[in-house]
Amino acid sequence: MTRDPSENLFRIIEARREEMVELARDLIRFPTINPPGEAYQPCAEFIGRRLKPHGFAVEYVRAAGTPGDTERYPRINVVARRKGSAAGPCVHFNGHIDVVQTGAGWTMDPFAAVVKDGKVYGRGACDMKGGLAAAIVAVEALIDSGAELPGTLEISGTVDEESGGYGGVHYLAERGWYSQVDHVIIPEPLNVDRVCIGHRGVWWAEIETHGRMAHGSMPFLGDCAVRHMNAFIDRLERDLYPKLAARRTDMPVVPSGARHSTLNINSIHGGQAETLGFPAPCVPDSCRMVIDRRLLIEESLDSVKGEVRALLEQLVSEREGFAYELRDIFEVQPTMADRDGPVARSTAAAIQRVMGRPAEFICSPGTYDQKHIDRVGKLKDCIAYGPGILDLAHQPDEYVLIDDMVNSAKVMALAARALLHGSA
Ligand SMILES: [Zn+2]
Repeated sequence: MTRDPSENLFRIIEARREEMVELARDLIRFPTINPPGEAYQPCAEFIGRRLKPHGFAVEYVRAAGTPGDTERYPRINVVARRKGSAAGPCVHFNGHIDVVQTGAGWTMDPFAAVVKDGKVYGRGACDMKGGLAAAIVAVEALIDSGAELPGTLEISGTVDEESGGYGGVHYLAERGWYSQVDHVIIPEPLNVDRVCIGHRGVWWAEIETHGRMAHGSMPFLGDCAVRHMNAFIDRLERDLYPKLAARRTDMPVVPSGARHSTLNINSIHGGQAETLGFPAPCVPDSCRMVIDRRLLIEESLDSVKGEVRALLEQLVSEREGFAYELRDIFEVQPTMADRDGPVARSTAAAIQRVMGRPAEFICSPGTYDQKHIDRVGKLKDCIAYGPGILDLAHQPDEYVLIDDMVNSAKVMALAARALLHGSA
């Protein structure tokens, strides 16, 4: 009777629990804050040095000329590739190494990587150095298990995810790095029993209304840009918000409030700035507003933009003096992988095996690097799966549960093995 090879793999991973914790701590200690993109190079080189002895060919890719890339802050990505014993598919794990600002409210040093009560704390512990450590240990365990491994295993540590991914996955995708890849797992913190198959899209835009300056005591001599903006916000309230709330997607987005189209007003700036605390006694000649519209897979960017422009155009024809400009800031298409595709199916089967309960399929309300792999890399079979509680990402005292790291490493190892053998 042959032993269950999965049990062997599980034993190897469990035996490396402490090693996985130390790896996560080592990664957290690099203060890879973005912006500006601190310590990218040493962090990427650390990952490369770690993987080389396991049979990986390691390459460093500097995203020269992308936003923020300077000699002081080079955008350095690491891609490690290990060819197996025979031809077969390529399974790629992608983790971003950048983290957001620490912010206020920490009760400990965010880069000390404190271990307490079964948790590793630190900026990036949850999003997503815990996931990257779990993926690395999963792949190493798979290699060291002595199992026959056809195909290719890849691990990339990429930068700038938190600022749009242009110096990271987008750069690699544009240069064909994903053309040889068949399946991608991104260990973002989406909880250990959930398979994230995609995310909503984004449109950020700035709207500016114009007016005419005059003395504040004689506003009838000017034209108030803030009142024009208020008229636009009225239209949003009256015409657009009810429509958005009525739209519901088939994407399994969590939390469920995000299954509707949403629009946030990020900021409004109107009128003259205060000088030394003294408000300007003037009629505002300009008002700017930044909107954050999140779109569903059923919506197109064109229709989403057209809806806002139509409201503005209505005001041009109905409201005296109304003049505006609409400027795109940033946009991302929604993306969703097939939940019956190989990577989603094999990961869900592995979750069932490891956790003893069915996987939940979800989509993320915000975006991550899957958009670039799908839209630029033209690779559909991509999911996000990893340890960590999504709500903790970007918060003070962010942590990852060590048990979750171990369980997710088992899931990733099983899923990768199935994918390499084409048996997913
Ligand atoms: Zn992340």
